[in-house]
Amino acid sequence: MTIATTIEEAGFQPASRIASIGVSTILQIGARANAMKREGLPVIILGAGEPDFDTPDNVKEAAKAAIDRGETKYTALDGSPELKKAIAGKFLRENGIDYAVDEITVAAGAKQILFNAFMASLNPGDEVIIPTPYWTSYSDIVEICGGVPVLIPCDAAAGFRLKADQLEKAITPKTRWLLLNSPSNPSGAAYSQADYLPLIEVMLRHPHVWLMVDDMYEHIVYDGFRFTTPVAIEPRLKSRALTVNGVSKAYAMTGWRIGYAGGPKALIKAMAVIQSQATSCPCSVSQAAAIAALNGPQDFLRERTASFQKRRDLVVGRLNAIEGLDCLVPEGAFYTFSGCAGVLGTTTPSGKTIATDADFCAYLLDEAHVAVVPGSAFGLSPYFRISYATSETDLVEALDRIERACAALRR
Ligand code: PMP
Repeated sequence: MTIATTIEEAGFQPASRIASIGVSTILQIGARANAMKREGLPVIILGAGEPDFDTPDNVKEAAKAAIDRGETKYTALDGSPELKKAIAGKFLRENGIDYAVDEITVAAGAKQILFNAFMASLNPGDEVIIPTPYWTSYSDIVEICGGVPVLIPCDAAAGFRLKADQLEKAITPKTRWLLLNSPSNPSGAAYSQADYLPLIEVMLRHPHVWLMVDDMYEHIVYDGFRFTTPVAIEPRLKSRALTVNGVSKAYAMTGWRIGYAGGPKALIKAMAVIQSQATSCPCSVSQAAAIAALNGPQDFLRERTASFQKRRDLVVGRLNAIEGLDCLVPEGAFYTFSGCAGVLGTTTPSGKTIATDADFCAYLLDEAHVAVVPGSAFGLSPYFRISYATSETDLVEALDRIERACAALRR
């Protein structure tokens, strides 16, 4: 008789709470693309969810100074008082929202903020309304926390935005949260004040529903778009809303892992309970860096956004000139979410049928060596996402290849 000695031999099954959650499609495509690159293929990856700029120098200097001052120990559980003060200052200055320091929480990225918030507030079966296309982590985090994602399709015809009647219909006695993201990953669509108002009206009629807004891409908006956030528009929502943000995208600080949120004290306290048993506190050095980011000069944001806007215009223009593709002009973030209904039903030169957006993306990777992510990964098909946070040279080359690959399809 052999005795099982490894977890595999013992017939490991993951815990039921993650049974329905696979490795993210984005990571799988990235892994495949990188493997192809290692084989020497000239793959261009347009999948990254991070700016291609460097963290600003004043932020790096602040981190070095913090190390030299010995700020290398545990900090307060959900953020140092100094960082919370800087965040309160940011909310007031940029959003006109007056959060007290005990209404603010800091975690290792906005992702951990979302995780803490759902973990602290969802009971089994509680529903979370999520418009699609959505950032892939939303539904997975909700499921890990025992909640039920209620996905509402918001296609290009709707500008990728949730409408009041859709929200009204989706609300049930079990609804705990509505989760909105503006500007959106993956669509780049953003909600103006006029877009938010009808949704806020519905929210006010259903006081048992709480509102989580992910404002991660607040600073990356184009054509003079005026960013706003629901609590700034309607202060009556403040007592049941969580306004989520972070330094990852605006300050090119994805690796520093600092996200934050403002919300009602009771929720903030419950989130700290989760964090206390997960990570104890966010990284001390990164917190010092985040203070410098929030309190320091902001003028570089304009320059970087202008550079993103130039690339957005390039990508959207090229995509719309390709037969079978159809791309809305995004208001923000650094993604395009292009429709590809016009290439479905075509045949590739090697005889494969393109039946889905995933087939189309597999074709682009295999034959054109361009890695993009299918809409199915974000809960809405047939679309595909391009991240244009990469060099203009690579973008032009990638779009040339996409154009040639589409022209080679047999209709
Ligand atoms: N929200 C959205 C919409 C995102 O795209 C991301 C990063 N891809 C995050 C939150 C998480 O950011 P972080 O954890 O780096 O703060």
